Amino acid sequence: MDIGNAIEKLVAGRWIVGAGIKDAVGASARLNAQGVSAMINYLGENLSDIDDVESTVRVYLNLINEIHKRGVDASIAIKATQIGLTIGIGCAKRNYAKIVGLARRKGVFIWLDMERHRDVDSVIRLYTGAPGKGMVGICIQARLKRSEGDIKRLVKAGAVVRLVKGAYKEDSRVSYTSRAAVTQNYLKLMNYLFRHSKEFMIATHDTGLIREALLLNRSYRRDVTYAMLNGIRNKYAVGLAKRGNKTAIYLPFGERWLDYAFRRLREEGHLSLLIKSLFEGQGV
Ligand SMILES: Cc1cc2nc3c(=O)[nH]c(=O)nc-3n(C[C@H](O)[C@H](O)[C@H](O)COP(=O)(O)OP(=O)(O)OC[C@H]3O[C@@H](n4cnc5c(N)ncnc54)[C@H](O)[C@@H]3O)c2cc1C
Repeated sequence: MDIGNAIEKLVAGRWIVGAGIKDAVGASARLNAQGVSAMINYLGENLSDIDDVESTVRVYLNLINEIHKRGVDASIAIKATQIGLTIGIGCAKRNYAKIVGLARRKGVFIWLDMERHRDVDSVIRLYTGAPGKGMVGICIQARLKRSEGDIKRLVKAGAVVRLVKGAYKEDSRVSYTSRAAVTQNYLKLMNYLFRHSKEFMIATHDTGLIREALLLNRSYRRDVTYAMLNGIRNKYAVGLAKRGNKTAIYLPFGERWLDYAFRRLREEGHLSLLIKSLFEGQGV
């Protein structure tokens, strides 16, 4: 097997649930049967061609209808740069409003993923500027130095935050660069959420942080969802759900898997993960 095939087999079998909406909804139903909800993402980012953007928006609208029709417990995670931000904020705003409008009517929660540091202001503007209220959340990265201020402003405005460490390497002027410093900031922001927010998502595979969150929630009793990426710690997520915790798994589908796969490989970093994964396949 050559390296290209090996990577394709790895991402297809372990992290990505298939190419089409039916694959994503089917995988969601399998997760639901184990007490875990799904957070579905259609792969793609930095789209600069209007036809690609429009066809992506159509996929999300069809996905919302399918989730509703099949009655699965699934939210949707969208990247601003796949619904028009690369073309312009006006285009992204129109598409976001269209998607959120249908999602609210169908009772499907929409998350905005967070992307590169240069896009953070625009993603926050998209989130806070959308008409209507409820059923939407936004991702914030502990890696970025600005995130403490962002979280405080967003929580005061009633936002639902998904806290992650941050998948994009950024300059040391704007970001913490060591794993220890990022984790320290995650802990600080997580404590802020427990003290000041009613509903949020702790999205990490770091079991030390998850244990700390479980302890904090014994005192604060918040509406917390613990979320992980498909194929990394699924069994652990199912265990959390079995112990009565709200749990979600992020399920990417589609054909534009290369950027996503490289981010994941960079995280664990090594060929050993790729080889090990070919024999494990613990995704849904
Ligand atoms: C639900 C969810 C949504 C996310 N959304 C975004 C987003 O919108 N924007 C964004 O920038 N980032 C997002 N991320 C990614 C996140 O920022 C981190 O890059 C990623 O979660 C790895 O960090 P960690 O918190 O798991 O901690 P780490 O310290 O990186 O990992 C903790 C442990 O988990 C295991 N692990 C982590 N990653 C892998 C891997 N790829 N393969 C195998 N084992 C692994 C390892 O054992 C590792 O020691 C999301 C993550 C999750 C879980």
